Amino acid sequence: MHSLMMDLPLTVTSVMTHAALYHGDREIVTATGTDEFHRTTYNQSFRRARRLANALASLGCAAGERLATLAWNDHRHFEIYYAATCGGYVLHTVNPRLFEPQLEYIFNHAGVRWVFVDPDFIPLLDKLKDRLPLVRGYVVLTSSRAMPASALDNVLCYEELIARESDVFDWPDLDERSACSLCYTSGTTGNPKGALYSHRSIVLHALAVSMPDATGLSANDIVMPVVPMFHVHAWGIPFRAPMVGAKLVFPGRYLGRPEILHALISAEGVNFSVAVPTIWQLLADHLEHNGLKVPSLKRAIVGGAACPQSLFRRFRDNLGVELIQGWGMTELCSVGTVNVPGPAFAGLDEEAKEGFDLKHGRPIFGVQVRIYDDTGKSLPWDGKTTGHLQARGPTVIRRYFGEGDGAAEDAQWFTTGDVASIDPDGNIRITDRSKDLIKSGGEWISSIELENCAMSHPAILEAAVIAAAHEKWNERPVLVAVVKPGLSVTREELIAWFQGRVARMCVPDDVIFVEQLPHTATGKVSKLDLRRRYANHLQSRKS
Ligand code: ADP
Repeated sequence: MHSLMMDLPLTVTSVMTHAALYHGDREIVTATGTDEFHRTTYNQSFRRARRLANALASLGCAAGERLATLAWNDHRHFEIYYAATCGGYVLHTVNPRLFEPQLEYIFNHAGVRWVFVDPDFIPLLDKLKDRLPLVRGYVVLTSSRAMPASALDNVLCYEELIARESDVFDWPDLDERSACSLCYTSGTTGNPKGALYSHRSIVLHALAVSMPDATGLSANDIVMPVVPMFHVHAWGIPFRAPMVGAKLVFPGRYLGRPEILHALISAEGVNFSVAVPTIWQLLADHLEHNGLKVPSLKRAIVGGAACPQSLFRRFRDNLGVELIQGWGMTELCSVGTVNVPGPAFAGLDEEAKEGFDLKHGRPIFGVQVRIYDDTGKSLPWDGKTTGHLQARGPTVIRRYFGEGDGAAEDAQWFTTGDVASIDPDGNIRITDRSKDLIKSGGEWISSIELENCAMSHPAILEAAVIAAAHEKWNERPVLVAVVKPGLSVTREELIAWFQGRVARMCVPDDVIFVEQLPHTATGKVSKLDLRRRYANHLQSRKS
């Protein structure tokens, strides 16, 4: 028997309509590099999105067409988010930090027809343009006064393009299951892979992540996404903030500039923010070094890569900010779990409370997880046993874009490539990526645990642990470390630091000091590069 409820689709258009009706005057502020920030409101932005939707129709864009952005976190990118998705096109946010061959692959694989590009990335496209046969034109995200020179064909100016259009537009009725946006993961091996999201998955993700026991977002919040909008929708903030009516504060192109982040937090009263560990580390260093505080900032989410325990303590004790760990992936619309204390937390002793920070939390509503061993056997949720982590739910992809279309069986469970343990209450702890695990004499060693231990040493700035080939044990952990400027530590001191802090068999066999670690386009340590360089380190050391 069917229900008698109205069947209104869960689309990004419904988020926009809601925000326009109930939160239209809420502000959107963007850093400009001067003391004067750019200021607008949801309603003004949606008006400009309607002009852009008219422009897209005038350009002859067809439903489902991929519209790429190479852009920072700012008000124009926000408008494109809405015009592209609500207009029935596919928003395709491209990470400009990817290597050229990856960008070329992504543009062509996705079949991109129009590119919305920040002037900063014109030189990148100048180099690529002859290898992008499908692209029909480029729209530069600036005013006519500031249009940069370029070698691109068919270049339009964004402000001119939308200025000549009407701000009246009838958004099409969209099926909630239709494609809404597309993000590629950087892919540490092989070609990047595309996650093609539906309107429904984006809305459900925004709802679930905004619940109080996830990241909890409300109309009273002032939120600053420091995760790039080209990286899985800045973890959904451009959809979640309008949905609840939170004020949005965009850092523009200054994502990696702690002094500008501090200025934005202070001037706009930011109380909630999201970023990867590197950014929070930069901000904490800057604030502590200059004796600054961020009294308005109450909560910050950290995720995307393992976060050292020392950072949770610095945020709590020195800055009065609750740093909360989340775990997620491009393939999960971004957030999969959030580590918010449940009712049992109050009963924990101090040591257990400290250890709690390092957990990754319980799944958001709708996401199910499980762990299994190499033979495919499901493993218990005892908080100790680790296994390959799988996830499923309405915010999880069932296969990659363009992969085995039609023929392929859709997966019932998505294999994350991460290794985790699960507590009896469903709180997960990521201990590694499958390919980064170290297998020593048949025992698994978690590289994340060792990196955490190394990072808790006062002289260590950054650390990565990789598997090096070993004659007797097959693989042994080797620590690659960067020392903080002005401090020093020896190999022997570091090895001694591990003793008593981790199981004896896990203590790294050697330490390699480097000036800096290699990073991927998403800012994570590239263990692939490190393994290439140091896989035979222990053997070469012996000879
Ligand atoms: P990529 O970095 O491959 O482009 P993602 O940004 O989607 O893709 O990365 C997802 C991966 O990042 C996860 O599978 C996991 O290995 C890692 N990750 C995400 N959050 C955390 C976290 N809080 N702690 C440790 N690792 C994390």
